[in-house]
Amino acid sequence: MSRFWNSRTRGLSPYVPGEQPQQSAYIKLNTNENPYPPSPAALDAIKRAADERLRLYPDPACREFREAVAERWRVKPEQVFAGNGSDEVLAFAFAAFFETEAGAAPRRIPPVLFPDITYSFYPVYARLWGIPCECPRVRDDFSIDHTDFLTPCGGVVFPNPNAPTGAALPREHVLAIARYHAEQNAVVIVDEAYAAFAAPRLSVIDRIAEHPNLLAVHTLSKSASLAGLRLGFAVGSEELIEGLCRVRDSFNSYPVDRIALAGGAAAVRDAAYYEETTRKIIATRDRVSAALVEKGYTVTPSSANFLFIRHPALSGAEFFTRLREAGILTRHFNTGRIADFIRVSIGSDADMDAFLTACAKEMV
Ligand SMILES: *Cc1c(COP(=O)(O)O)cnc(C)c1O
Repeated sequence: MSRFWNSRTRGLSPYVPGEQPQQSAYIKLNTNENPYPPSPAALDAIKRAADERLRLYPDPACREFREAVAERWRVKPEQVFAGNGSDEVLAFAFAAFFETEAGAAPRRIPPVLFPDITYSFYPVYARLWGIPCECPRVRDDFSIDHTDFLTPCGGVVFPNPNAPTGAALPREHVLAIARYHAEQNAVVIVDEAYAAFAAPRLSVIDRIAEHPNLLAVHTLSKSASLAGLRLGFAVGSEELIEGLCRVRDSFNSYPVDRIALAGGAAAVRDAAYYEETTRKIIATRDRVSAALVEKGYTVTPSSANFLFIRHPALSGAEFFTRLREAGILTRHFNTGRIADFIRVSIGSDADMDAFLTACAKEMV
């Protein structure tokens, strides 16, 4: 605590990102980065964008990138919002659509709902903006019971597939939640950071037209191998997108830079390249999952680019530590019902073979 911090800053509880060791020999399976390089077309566009035009501000409307997204997902550019990573898009969406406690006369504000086991940035945003929230319990197998979200509230947000479990909620259940809340003008945000790794198709982008209160949030950090570029986007009705623009333009007119816009547009246009890398990751995920189950590990069925794993004997903390000592970085959330699990990102086949070897050698 510093005496210079105001009461808001004193009350924050910031998100703690996974470790990013600079120049290390670790096999890095802790932040769900993609093991494959970005599309060559994207890298080329990034290099071409690095020229004297950098003296100019980027396009505040992010037109080229939004048009690429619109074409790929068959929506209008006016239904697309771009931000500095989907974390920023999510923070803007919380600010734009969820009611806050701050303000003159205290009144009861219906809470925003998200699952008790989910992306740990949501409670951080809620705290930052002063948004009341409640967290329905996911089932013991970590699946979401969508009927828990069919209740009057200030809005709903969840990732699909969920993080850090990898569990997918069927599209029909997502749409049922959106339909229920449309009547009460509450916004439903579906964080589709990992939807590209799900089969059959999980994203609800193609159903946006029927659900004016539904916002699908995507990132180029995971399936598009561009975590270092910081680019995310949301697709929703024009009125939702306009709300996001109002918040952004009250904060920073240019959160997405020229390099990111050029690289992002090229990446979105190179669907063929990413279909292939995504296919490889899914095959590796399913192979590793089966091998672990065979050895007696508990593995949650995953529709994402990571596995949620419980060792047959060791605590999550001990499993994490032993892997770390074996040179493999994973993620452990030391809280409640998930304390015995670790989250392991799907790396290259060679990385995952090293992981399986460590599991066989060090752990029994
Ligand atoms: C990784 C992740 C994001 C954030 O992605 P960025 O675009 O890199 O900010 C958002 N939501 C979930 C659930 C994630 O796992």
